[in-house]
Amino acid sequence: MKRKSFLQTSAAVIGSSLLPSLSFAGDNRKKPIRFAHLTDIHVKPGLVPEAGMAKALHHAQQLKPKVDFIINGGDSIMDSLEADKQKTQTQWDLFKNILQKENSLPIYHTIGNHDIWGWFIKENKPDNDRLYGKLWVLETLEMKTRYYSFTRGNWHIIVLDSTQLNPAGGYIGKLDPVQLDWLQQELLQVPADIFICIVSHIPILSICSGLFFDKTELNGDLLIKRNLMHTDFLVLKKLFIKYPNIKACISGHIHLQDEVKYLGINYYCNGAVSGNWWGGSYQEFAPAYAIMELFDDGSSRRTMVPYK
Ligand SMILES: [Zn+2]
Repeated sequence: MKRKSFLQTSAAVIGSSLLPSLSFAGDNRKKPIRFAHLTDIHVKPGLVPEAGMAKALHHAQQLKPKVDFIINGGDSIMDSLEADKQKTQTQWDLFKNILQKENSLPIYHTIGNHDIWGWFIKENKPDNDRLYGKLWVLETLEMKTRYYSFTRGNWHIIVLDSTQLNPAGGYIGKLDPVQLDWLQQELLQVPADIFICIVSHIPILSICSGLFFDKTELNGDLLIKRNLMHTDFLVLKKLFIKYPNIKACISGHIHLQDEVKYLGINYYCNGAVSGNWWGGSYQEFAPAYAIMELFDDGSSRRTMVPYK
């Protein structure tokens, strides 16, 4: 090492050791953007879910260092896909009331499959009701659009709408053509020195999507079903590869936790606040939420917090 650079390095080390530390022990990255990702809250009437949602929100707001905001990863309520109007209203009232009382942080919402009203109602399908489909969740959570983006520091956060009605039955994880077109335009507009974190309810890429049912098929296949991971992953992969500033993707939906690094992107599947839909752990995973830290060098860290 040349003397000059040695002196510069020493000065930097001494200088930084005298400053109040904004970083963590052994971590030279600057203060990150920190947020809590609470996904799959699935609130419904009952002591356990209601107290559980409040507890998770309290926990996230008491963290030290503090988080700057919350991202709600979707499936806010137990279910409105099959629920009648009254039951859906009750669940949304509950979600809104608890959020209003127990949370003072800015919160960004994602639409989950169970937040969509009426798609699976068999008799007297309310498809002429103006609230049918995604309008109810949009209005209740005061979301202007199904998908959107915002910027914090040198990170751009894109929130997607993963769930589409599948003509062959059920729902499917993918972007509709209009949304895919929007995402392509959006990515074009983000400067190359701004890092990108993408939020989706259904994982874009996840191994736990194939482990959700905890079984191997009779023929030996380990299946990833169309409603458990983005079926347009190969399309998204080709798009993402053009933007090396896409660094992290976060999701929920599976109630399991994994972290997959693939082609330069960290994909985090962040468990569920409701765990086994408020019956304890789902498989090996206790009810939990994630602390996400997005650093100014494009790296990220996910810490799962079992809040109970
Ligand atoms: Zn879901």
